[in-house]
Amino acid sequence: MRRGIVLGMLVAVGAAALSATAYLAQQQPAGRAQLPAPGVVEAEKVKDNLFMLKGGGGNTGVFITATGVVVVDTKYPGWGKPILEKLRTLTDKPVTMIINTHTHGDHVSGNVEFPATVEVVVQENTRSNMERMERREPRPTETRESLDIFKANNYRGMPKRTFRDKMSIGRGADQIDLYYFGIGHTNGDAWVVFPALRVMHSGDIFPGKSLPNIDPVNGGSGLEWGNTLAKVYGGIKNVDTIITGHSTLMTMEDLKMHSDFLRDLAAAVREAKKAGKTVDEVASTWRVPAKYAGYPAPRPEQLRTPVQMIYDELK
Ligand SMILES: [Zn+2]
Repeated sequence: MRRGIVLGMLVAVGAAALSATAYLAQQQPAGRAQLPAPGVVEAEKVKDNLFMLKGGGGNTGVFITATGVVVVDTKYPGWGKPILEKLRTLTDKPVTMIINTHTHGDHVSGNVEFPATVEVVVQENTRSNMERMERREPRPTETRESLDIFKANNYRGMPKRTFRDKMSIGRGADQIDLYYFGIGHTNGDAWVVFPALRVMHSGDIFPGKSLPNIDPVNGGSGLEWGNTLAKVYGGIKNVDTIITGHSTLMTMEDLKMHSDFLRDLAAAVREAKKAGKTVDEVASTWRVPAKYAGYPAPRPEQLRTPVQMIYDELK
């Protein structure tokens, strides 16, 4: 989809489609983001004390515990306030913790709008990635403003607490298990499990049924991504429902399918490179195998970027 059509759609279909459309824009090979202006977030109830907030960037998870609210991901700049306003309709409890699944501006920028007392927790590589946001160039869904957001807010909302492979927070009905299973979208993607509810927030390492949006600048890998998802499928057994990074609720079987999809794509690209094909040849000829239900047929211009990135990894 070309940018002009994307922008036209934004006008035509309104705020409800912003998240999905912004995600589509991530597949664009070049160009600068038009970040969605702050608006209203929609709440979808997942369990009595767990909600998914849509709009304004990645899906936000809201976990209401006995002592306070844990927020997973905080969307684009200016969307922290809409999250807090929606929370007021769901609970009287204060926000006590933010967990960011990874470093991207559509998942962390709202942090700065929460009280400075809120504890921010991330995987340790994500903390490093967040610390150097202000020194790198914007990705297609970012702007200079979104990369400088912590610097501009005196580093409010930056993470202080980190984990490497696994950490549990709280107990019983309020327990949260944080896992890191390896590189994929970035090198710091956290899996956030609410074991009492059998629900997990996956962030963008499982954004939905879409092409891989690989971020090599933050350590992502198109070759390893599918393997990492296979480890998650084999390693996390107490989950039925997944809050995806940018799509609807999904299941562990959907995650397994995405693992297979990414492995098949990586294998096809590897073979094509070995056979001497150009990136453009692969982008214009690769088709989603029929067994992958729910995956849209990509256009060559959407495929070119991930194929190029996998070619670069194979060097
Ligand atoms: Zn992301």
